[in-house]
Amino acid sequence: MDNSSFTIRPSGAYNGVMTTQPTGRFAPSPSGYMHMGNLLATLLAWLDCRTLGGRMVLRMEDLDPVRTRPEYARALAEDLRWLGMDWDEGYPDASYCQSARTALYEAAFHTLEEKGLIYPCWCSRAQRLAAASAPHPGEAVHDPRCRCAYLTAAERAERIAAGRLPAWKVRVPDETVTVQDCHYGTYVQNLAREGGDFIVRRADGVFAYQLAVSVDDMLMGVTRVVRGRDLLSSAPRQAWLIRTLGGTPPEYCHLPLLTAAEGKLSKRLGSESTQRFRAEYDPRDLVGRLAALAGLLPSPEPITPRELLPLFAWNKIPTDDIIISQ
Ligand code: GLU
Repeated sequence: MDNSSFTIRPSGAYNGVMTTQPTGRFAPSPSGYMHMGNLLATLLAWLDCRTLGGRMVLRMEDLDPVRTRPEYARALAEDLRWLGMDWDEGYPDASYCQSARTALYEAAFHTLEEKGLIYPCWCSRAQRLAAASAPHPGEAVHDPRCRCAYLTAAERAERIAAGRLPAWKVRVPDETVTVQDCHYGTYVQNLAREGGDFIVRRADGVFAYQLAVSVDDMLMGVTRVVRGRDLLSSAPRQAWLIRTLGGTPPEYCHLPLLTAAEGKLSKRLGSESTQRFRAEYDPRDLVGRLAALAGLLPSPEPITPRELLPLFAWNKIPTDDIIISQ
């Protein structure tokens, strides 16, 4: 990748290649082995993309050097293949690994900086959470921004000189963004009052998920984002970031989360699971179990992702979270 000539290009362009084809993505974080929840998200992302005749990308979200490991990335890719899912571009090509894309995030950060949207923030995590909590009914609506947004240049210089490394936040406008989620329908969020300014670069220099995922979805020409509904509230800020950087946001399709009757997915169906599944299951049994949980089959029966294609429809999938017994 020629980083020196990098400019933010509209959606549909990646490394100079324009595509009008629908494009989906797997975007796993290699910080552990896949569990049933991840597997369901990847299966629906693959079915959604292939039903549309789309191109599939496998992007490794390995930005965090402390939490992610190359062996998990390898295992995730093997799991997808073992289950019968394929992709057209991506891992193990390093240019689809976030750890190798820092120059692109740097360029996007710089674009936001030039627009006057970036400021340093010295708040602790606890202060940030307190500032982000919504005012109670009847309370005056308070300014959700932390004080760092209003520091003078001299005050900033003083803090920097004292050696305290800041995180970097993007200043969002008082704008209401509407996302048409293909499964949950219209989702409306006021960026300033409900989301608030958010971190795009951590104090240790690592770019934050929100920036990296937006830049990548834009530059990889992603047109369909299929993922768990815990990320639905991030969709408006990602759509706004992409538009601010000159791109076109993808369509978002969120899916219900898998939860255990006991409240939390246990270790058995938890982080060590695909390793265990590969030893104990036929992949077709596992796909059948996932398909039944998602409402695509009346009951579990062995099936491949490809055989599921004619049975896939978003309106069969529940919107309430799916409870599994363990
Ligand atoms: N890497 C994220 C995860 O594994 C998913 C991000 C996304 O789909 O936007 O949870």
